[in-house]
Amino acid sequence: MRLLVVEDDRDLNRQIVAGLEGAGYAVDRAFDGEEGHFLGDTEPYDAVVLDIGLPKRDGIAVLEAWRAAGRAMPVLILTARDRWSDKVKGFDAGADDYVAKPFHMEEVLARVRALLRRAAGHASAELTCGPVTLDTRAGRVAVDGNAVKLTSHEYRLLSYLMHHMGRIVSRGEIVEHLYDQDFDRDSNTIEVFVGRLRRKLGVDIIQTMRGLGYLVAPPEAEKKPAARKDA
Ligand code: CA
Repeated sequence: MRLLVVEDDRDLNRQIVAGLEGAGYAVDRAFDGEEGHFLGDTEPYDAVVLDIGLPKRDGIAVLEAWRAAGRAMPVLILTARDRWSDKVKGFDAGADDYVAKPFHMEEVLARVRALLRRAAGHASAELTCGPVTLDTRAGRVAVDGNAVKLTSHEYRLLSYLMHHMGRIVSRGEIVEHLYDQDFDRDSNTIEVFVGRLRRKLGVDIIQTMRGLGYLVAPPEAEKKPAARKDA
């Protein structure tokens, strides 16, 4: 999952980015409304944390411009404490949720997790595919209830695929959603990570769709067996 943080307060920006990166997300950052608007308009973010009070272009105007251009990613706005009018303007401009300053990073993380799973159509914080469960709160993966140890890159990849279960995800899409803009992106490494994930999980939930990408679905054995015509 790749996120954008737009916040002009450098310390706060650094804290939010560090918190999100610590939770396993790839994060890009912007320090004013123009830069933030440009990134959100051109890069495929899974969610955005957007401050309202920004230099050059305020957060409400940035959000309105994104929505007018059809950019639909979930947006969590940061509002000044007790500025209820900011919240109203923010929601009317297309915000999905808000956090009032000062906030605890845990609250931002929980709200971002909720936005990401809602955007992908999941109501629960725990995603399940056959014997595999992925707990988005704890960042843990288990197969048949047994914990599987994954690196942060492997977790990020599995998390993205499981958020988009049942849909073919191309390698290009994975690269765009797993790495921040400074990362040296090479879609060949995705194959390597998928191979490692398959070995560690030990169950066949990631199918390669030749020439298209990957599809996460429960293993064949769990599906209803097809009736044999010529038994
Ligand atoms: Ca600000």
